[in-house]
This record gives sequence, structure tokens and C-alpha cells, in this order.
Amino acid sequence: MNRADPSSSTYTTFDAVVVGAGFAGLYMLYRLRQLGLRVRAYEAGDGVGGTWYWNRYPGARCDVESMQYSYSFSEDLQREWHWTERYPQQEEILRYINHVADRFDLRRDIQLETRVIKAVHDEKNSQWTVLTDRGDKVVTRFLISAAGCLSAGRVPDITGLDSFKGKWFHTGNWPHEKVDFTGRRVGVIGTGSSGIQAIPVIAREAAQVVVFQRTPNFSIPAWNRPLTEEEQLAWKAKYPEHREKARRTRSGILYEYSQRATNDVNEEERQQEYERRWKRGGANFTHAFNDIFINRESNDKAAEFVRNKIRCTVKDPKVAELLSPNDHAIGTKRICVDTDYYETFNLEHVSLVDLRATPIQEIVPAGIRTDAATYELDAIVFATGYDAVTGSLDRIEIRGRGGKALKDKWSEGPRTYLGLMTAGFPNLFFITGPGSPSVLTNVVVAIEQHVDWISRCLQHMQAEDLDVAEPMAAAENEWVAHVNEVADKTLFPSTKSWYMGANVPGKPRVFLPYVGGFGNYTSICEEVVAEGYRGVRFGSANAAKDRAAVDEAFSMPHR
Ligand code: NAP
Repeated sequence: MNRADPSSSTYTTFDAVVVGAGFAGLYMLYRLRQLGLRVRAYEAGDGVGGTWYWNRYPGARCDVESMQYSYSFSEDLQREWHWTERYPQQEEILRYINHVADRFDLRRDIQLETRVIKAVHDEKNSQWTVLTDRGDKVVTRFLISAAGCLSAGRVPDITGLDSFKGKWFHTGNWPHEKVDFTGRRVGVIGTGSSGIQAIPVIAREAAQVVVFQRTPNFSIPAWNRPLTEEEQLAWKAKYPEHREKARRTRSGILYEYSQRATNDVNEEERQQEYERRWKRGGANFTHAFNDIFINRESNDKAAEFVRNKIRCTVKDPKVAELLSPNDHAIGTKRICVDTDYYETFNLEHVSLVDLRATPIQEIVPAGIRTDAATYELDAIVFATGYDAVTGSLDRIEIRGRGGKALKDKWSEGPRTYLGLMTAGFPNLFFITGPGSPSVLTNVVVAIEQHVDWISRCLQHMQAEDLDVAEPMAAAENEWVAHVNEVADKTLFPSTKSWYMGANVPGKPRVFLPYVGGFGNYTSICEEVVAEGYRGVRFGSANAAKDRAAVDEAFSMPHR
């Protein structure tokens, strides 16, 4: 694809610009093409795949089962693709995404190694002017963010990192070539989903692994295994039915959602149910009873079962206690799904440092110094997470009506209508944006639903000869209030988590996703459409295309 000439003052025109070419960007591109629109997707990586392109850390694997973590929009695609394991590895998912890009001939509209850095709405012409870090200057009617919820990685600001003599890595930006830890002393900071997956695999190679833990997390075994041909065929035979059912569930995933409350059964039955779910593996565990997310006592019972499992697995009682979470309700931080995580702490060469008792003071040339000791290391792995949901949008300077920056509008927390749009920013759409179920779901299902909604909205605009779509402030206020109200009925806000923005210093403490359930959310979105896009104001753009006005609006020094 031809690159832009940064010195050129000419603007390329598209109907729609898509930011990102992961699961969301690819499907958006596919649908926009079907509408006959001229589209360009910009992708920062040198390949498609988004999260699954960047997250190549050892052990990276999805915690949603393969047969469900895939697109449903093409019956042929879902029948022909062959998954090899119960939970797919990063490498396999990336292969799948590349297959989709080729199968639907999507690459010709994707510009790789290009980051969108600025987008300004030009009210006069009702269009967006977009600038990339490669000097592209683009004018587009629609701007669609497919930038992802977990793509802005965070390396904590620890003094002395620059002085470290060894190598350091962040799980979300892992090198493309294999990192060989054989014979190395490796420190891992962070025990969320990424750390919990990476630690056992790193421990297979490394001479020594030191895990620096601030907060222990609950983890359920994946019991990952190869998928048999029969299982796949049986699932595929009922794919449309399975998909339809999944779309009506709370998380877009076919789990066994219990209709029983924790106290509906006696202690013996309760333990049997937890045990049965533990043996089945995965996040299904948190749906053992229907009040785990809303009733603290019920939650404590499920949590205690997991803590007992940790005590039975980890031989050193002190280590077991440190690994047992007791500061948050199970499930209110994203539940982890692991292979041999707790078992790994029985290995001689693996040790655990409790950062609550002995915080990290600094990184020194030889390793990490805590209050208690200096740990000599050859490599440090930061499994320290993301500026989630809003981080990828914050990194772009987005200006709407009156030059108002999105970051400023959202300074006290994101405000959206349905997580899809925000008032004051016409024709800007978010895929799995804040205020939508997004990270609480099988995100591929959430992506498809959003992309379909946006496509339908654009189709409606085409049919009615409308150029501008923008949510009404009142509708947005109502939605934000609803998102908070629903979250407040659960245990989620009681926990300091990335769902609350609590992992980023200075980030407003607002519950970011919509916890009212994916099925309910979809019904609301459908109602909005049925009621003529209730809460969305449509209009026609000014006919005049005044190039000077575009330049004026876009007064950024070009590279
Ligand atoms: P995360 O859940 O935010 O975990 C980050 C870890 O780093 C936490 O243990 C955190 O401790 C620690 N940490 C952060 N800053 C620190 C500091 N300055 N000093 C010491 N420790 C620090 O991030 P993640 O593990 O990358 O996972 C993020 C999300 O990505 C997951 O929740 C999940 O949604 C998704 N993910 C999914 C999969 C999968 O599908 N299997 C795999 C990986 C990630 P505190 O808790 O004390 O802050």
C-alpha cells in the first residue's frame, strides 16, 4: 500500500476510517465494504490481530473456549476453521485472524505500521480530519474506533528501570522472536491473567523465577486439552443454535448459568457443585450459583472453596496463604484461568515475594530491590496490565464540536450512549466502548453485535440520506446513570480493579463496562433501533466542502 507523503497538503478522502485491525477492525471493515463505503483501516502493528498480535508472551492463551471465541458472521468460516485445543493459544488465534483477513480479502484496505494520532471534527463540513504518525492526512465522514479495550499497556513507573543491565519485557508488547529464558534468573511483576499464564511456562525454562506479587488473584484451572474431531463436529452441527443462545446470555458465552442461589442448597451439595465446576475448569466456576456477584456472603463461600484448593495444592502453607486472595470478592477482578499456576510454587527454583510486606523500592542494575532484599535477575517481565477500555482512545487526540477534546469530556470518567457514541462527537463510533458489556463478555460476540449495530445505523443513514449521527445529551446522561445504577447493585465497585480504573494513578474511579448482562444490553440496543434510533439525533451535512475550513480545523504541525 502506498504511504502518505508527509509534506503533501492534500487530503485523501474516505467514507469511513477504522482505527485498529484486530477482531473488531477486521469485521467492521468487512461490513463497511458491504455498504459500498470507501474505507481505510489504520493499524499500528506490522500485522493484523490487535491484542493477539501484541500478546505473544509465554503461555498466552484465551480464557474463552475455542469453539466460542471466534466470529459467527460467516457460516462457512465457522465450519471450515479447525481449532486444535479446548482453549486457543495466541499463535492459533493469530493464525485464525490472518486467515479471516485473507479469506475476505481485507488487507487491501488496511494500512499497517500506522498509528492514528489526531482526529478533529470539522463542523462546517460535518466530517473528520484524521492525522497519522506516518503523515497521512485524511478526511472521512465516519470515524470508528476498533482500538481495543486492553491494548494500552502499562509499565509502572519504578525508579531505576533504565539502569537495569538485563532485559525487560511487557507481556502486552512481547518480542516476535522467541525469548529464551533457559538458565536465566527471571523476575515477574504482576499476578493477573497474563502473569498467571506466563509464570508456569517461564518456570519450565528459567533457572530461577521470582514472582513479585502485590495482590493475589483467584484462578481456576483451565484443564486445557486437545479438542477431538467428534467434539468439533458435534459443536459445528449446532453452531447457529449455540451462537443464538450465547447471544442471549449474561456474558455472551455458553456457560452453565445456575438458577439456584447459594443458600438454596445445603453445605454438602454446595461443595459438590463447586467441586464439579472446578473439575470442569474455567470461568464457569463463578456461575455455580446465581448470587455470587451480588451477595457478599455467597461470594465468600465460593471464594473460600478456591482458597482451600490453593491450600491443598501449594505445599508451603505460608506461600499458600500469600497466594490466597482475601481482599476482594471472587469474580470482581477478572477471574484467571490457568495451567499449573499454583503447582508452580512447589518448584524449588520458584519463589514468591509479597510486595505488600516488602514493596519494591527501585530497580537496580543487578535486579529488583525491595524493602527487604535485592533480587539479582537477568530479565524482568512486567505483567502489569493495561490502561483499560479508555487508554487506547486517550492516546489519540480526538476533538469534537467546538474543538473539545474527548479526554477533557471524559476527565471524570467516560460518558457514552450505549457505549457506542458520545455527545458532542458526531459520527464517531466505538466498538466495545466504555459503558458497553465489552470486557465482561466473550469479546468477539460483543464486537459482532456492535459492528452490526453501527452498520445498521449507517445503512439507515444511507437510506434516509442523512450524514450526521450524534447521541442526545439527555439519552447519554440516562445511559451513564443506568450503567452506574446496575454496577452499584453488584459487588464489582467494591473492588479496586482495572474495571474501575483503579490500576492507573489519577484515572477516575468509574465502573467502565456495562454489567447489566450482554443479552439485556442487546435487547436495549434492538429497542433503540426499533424506536427509530431513540436518543440519536440525525442530520444532513452542510453541502459546501470548504477545504480551507478543513485546514483551519486541523491546525496541527504536519510531520
Ligand atoms: P492485570 O489483570 O491488570 O494485572 C496486573 C498485575 O500487575 C496485577 O497483579 C497488579 O497488582 C500488578 N501490578 C501492576 N502495577 C504494579 C506495580 N507497580 N507493582 C507491582 N505490581 C503491579 O493485567 P493482565 O494480567 O495483563 O490482565 C489484564 C486483562 O487482560 C485480564 O484481566 C483479562 O481481561 C485480559 N487477559 C486475558 C487473558 C486470557 O484470555 N486468558 C490473558 C491475559 C490477559 P495489583 O492487582 O495489586 O494492582
